[in-house]
Amino acid sequence: HIPVLCIDGPTASGKGTVAAAVAQQLGYALLDSGALYRITALAAVQAGIDIAPAHEAALADLARTLPVRFADGRIWLASADVTDAIRTEAMGMNASRISALPAVRAALVDLQHGFARLPGLVADGRDMGTVIFPQAPLKVFMTASAACRAERRHQQLLAKGIDANIDALRADLEARDLQDQSRKVAPLKPAQDALLLDNSGLTIDETVAQVIVWWEE
Ligand code: C5P
Repeated sequence: HIPVLCIDGPTASGKGTVAAAVAQQLGYALLDSGALYRITALAAVQAGIDIAPAHEAALADLARTLPVRFADGRIWLASADVTDAIRTEAMGMNASRISALPAVRAALVDLQHGFARLPGLVADGRDMGTVIFPQAPLKVFMTASAACRAERRHQQLLAKGIDANIDALRADLEARDLQDQSRKVAPLKPAQDALLLDNSGLTIDETVAQVIVWWEE
């Protein structure tokens, strides 16, 4: 029996950073499920397959046979390092579109379950607690205000030398959240037994500490 700690929530809520820190602190494995949808979207773009319901079967085949590898903090698609290529906002939007296709979601289930290993797993995504690991003993639903999330994204980009418009960033993330919340399969929403954590006024360290306290309770 492998313990799983789920952290779900909207775009730029800080859950990726927090999930990685919690996994590190507990010595657990980490599943970045969003990366799997991003990689599937990238593979589709590279294969020239339009991300549309008409190509659902072909896109699901792609997802089922994805030659993906996580190693030393890098993400590989076959022999290509795609760590940076999958992080663009455009690929986030493509990931959101491909993730609305039920056959694609089904094709990624076994791959996600395969990340569970002893002594435990921290699973980061949108449906970790609702669909992939419904028996998990702790499900955190992490949020932050849209203004706060846009500001954080702005700072992340500034660190890379990109001065993006905050209003445009906020519009992008709200559009992606709306798409994730309104899809028919596995819509973004807290599991019934999830604990809500709004980290708008918290630092990363404070947020990590709260999750660890809940885990140890
Ligand atoms: O978390 P991240 O921004 O990398 O996720 C990219 C997209 O992948 C999300 O907007 C969402 O549409 C999709 N996703 C999902 N289910 C997950 C993780 C991500 O549908 N468990």
